[in-house]
Amino acid sequence: MTTIIRTMRTHETANVKAALVTAGYTDIKVGHGTGTAWSWLHVKIVATKPQGCTCTSTMNDYGQRETCQLCRAAWREHYSKGGDIVRATTGRHGERENFNVQVELI
Ligand SMILES: [Zn+2]
Repeated sequence: MTTIIRTMRTHETANVKAALVTAGYTDIKVGHGTGTAWSWLHVKIVATKPQGCTCTSTMNDYGQRETCQLCRAAWREHYSKGGDIVRATTGRHGERENFNVQVELI
């Protein structure tokens, strides 16, 4: 990989991180893929569960823990906000956005 591309990737990571911090996120990870996925940008946002959360440890039909309505709404909000921030910051958009946003509520 050339130095120029490496520098662009470093800038992209720093810009997305800065934009997420500006949006109020503190627990974040931003990085690029490796190998054949080297152009992919991976963003992880960890956020606090909303007040009044009633999530249970019961598993649903898909083997996932049951998530309450508040958390589902919060997850969607963080996910869409994260995507908007990546699009606005990097210009990645369209059919082949080449990024993913992971949201974890704790
Ligand atoms: Zn919940």
